[in-house]
Amino acid sequence: MPINENKTRRAVLQGVTALGATALWPRFAYGQDRLRTGTQLRPFPIGRNGESVDQIRRIRTNDRVVALTFDDGPHAVLTPQVLDILAGRGIRASFFVIGNRVVRAPGLVARIAREGHEIGNHTWSHPHMSQLSDHAILDEIDTTARAVEMATGFSPVIMRPPYGEFDRRQSRMLRLARNLPTVLWSVDPQDWRRPGGWAISDYILTNTNPGAVILSHDIVDDTVRNLPRVLDGLSAQGYRFVTISELLGWPAWNQRRHLTAVPIG
Ligand SMILES: [Zn+2]
Repeated sequence: MPINENKTRRAVLQGVTALGATALWPRFAYGQDRLRTGTQLRPFPIGRNGESVDQIRRIRTNDRVVALTFDDGPHAVLTPQVLDILAGRGIRASFFVIGNRVVRAPGLVARIAREGHEIGNHTWSHPHMSQLSDHAILDEIDTTARAVEMATGFSPVIMRPPYGEFDRRQSRMLRLARNLPTVLWSVDPQDWRRPGGWAISDYILTNTNPGAVILSHDIVDDTVRNLPRVLDGLSAQGYRFVTISELLGWPAWNQRRHLTAVPIG
């Protein structure tokens, strides 16, 4: 980066900080600069109870907390229904979005963020990443991160590989290259098989433990139909719903970047 531009950027950052406009800070301090400088970031802190962050499936806790996650959206019809159901109960969840769907519905992605949910990176085209080169993987991740940032002003701080296909070496590669931990799941109702009836909610209500990460899809109508029963059933069991970042004891995803960004200058 040319020195003049660097100085200007620093001045802008100081001005922004002086104003206390933290919401603007990440826009300037993060993103391409970090990639361009190649500066090594500190690795993420490990999870609350010592779990490796290379591949997160759940946390160990006695607290009745649970993270509900929705993959493969946004879906023009079903995602708004999910958001309405969550909003009606004051519940926050995490959405792992597909980049090529984000660019088709940026307003919907902005709504997800605005309503307090976390947005995670679920790649651009939902490939089988075990068959991709590291370069191709980073391209899938970066294009999606940019799409989410265009829609919301913020980049995801977590990634979920399609089909869960990602080995530990790939997870470490992604964490070191982009500071993105891999988030898998511990409860899988296999809703994409469209089991019908109450099968999805029955499975979740029976198999959820404290610290669980529940996988579901906001592109499956059975999931949306079962969602009120899942939420009310887990609430009745004493569960509190948190985002993935909250589950891990991290700051909210859209408040993160000023903590991890490279110092300017
Ligand atoms: Zn998926």
